[in-house]
Amino acid sequence: MELRITLKPYCLPFRQTMLTAHGPWVEREGVLVRLEDESGRVGYGEAAPVRGFGGGTLAEVTARLGALGDRARSETLVEVAAEGGGVGFALGAALMAFGNAEAGLDFTPKHDYLPVAGLLPAGRGVLAAIEPKLELGFRTFKWKVGVGDPQDERGILDDLLSRLPTGCKLRLDANGAWDRRRAEAWLECCAERPMIEFVEQPVATGDDRGRDLMLGLAEDYPTVLALDEAVTDLRDLQRWADNGWRGVFVVKPALAGDPAALMAGLAERPWDVVFSTALETAIGARTVLTMAFAASGKGRALGTGVWPLFNGHVLNGPTAMPFVRWFDVAALNSEAAWNAAS
Ligand code: MG
Repeated sequence: MELRITLKPYCLPFRQTMLTAHGPWVEREGVLVRLEDESGRVGYGEAAPVRGFGGGTLAEVTARLGALGDRARSETLVEVAAEGGGVGFALGAALMAFGNAEAGLDFTPKHDYLPVAGLLPAGRGVLAAIEPKLELGFRTFKWKVGVGDPQDERGILDDLLSRLPTGCKLRLDANGAWDRRRAEAWLECCAERPMIEFVEQPVATGDDRGRDLMLGLAEDYPTVLALDEAVTDLRDLQRWADNGWRGVFVVKPALAGDPAALMAGLAERPWDVVFSTALETAIGARTVLTMAFAASGKGRALGTGVWPLFNGHVLNGPTAMPFVRWFDVAALNSEAAWNAAS
């Protein structure tokens, strides 16, 4: 089957500037892919790399997609998708519209709805933010730590926990900011606070020492730990599992290559995965959420409570609410998002 390829680079200002370890992030850049067969059937995909994460840079994914030209055999695109990263995600997602027969994969949703974690602001501002989120119905929350003084943050933590009704869960995300001593002090504190669902990336794991520290902390303390920055794709998950990791993996499918390959890999073991957004448009969001709904797994709340990110309703994934319904995923209109992006 020959497919016509159209690319659309986009640059969309965020409604609110994102604060990241690399400084303020004001606009989302990426490339949309549109594939069309002779009968007029169309598939959409999105490559949306994130600085500081794996999966290729914007320049790399733009060059790789551009090199495909304006027509290619679907077999060729399947091969390129297998190269992984943002290119793999974009092409693999667009190819899903033409069937996944070769992969033998089923993207039928296994859930009517999935819970979503509510994002809380770092620092003392969390105490003002929690009440409205509880009123909306959120019961799983994520709070960024490792930003201020640890003693202060642990004081705020107890204030926060005292406001959460029974049954709530709190994720702490340190983004690798702690050293061993800090991580140990925090994990001792967490050990007595069972509302803490897990601690995400307590220490940086960019080298062997960091990896061994992470594995050691997971052994020594009862609180579940999660890897985020440490893992991009299935190979990373497999490497950590082979090293003895039994904790959670935060997976951003948009950076993790061909959706079909990732889903096939996830089906092989009882991975403990949290599906998370990489701040895509509606086109990428539709793929990410389709994967989350098709996966079995432990039903942990999704890390997708970020939209609306952009001006223009059709460009956004489902608005951040305590649950995302399959109905809302199926209603995402890729064609409208394609037309609105620029
Ligand atoms: Mg994280």
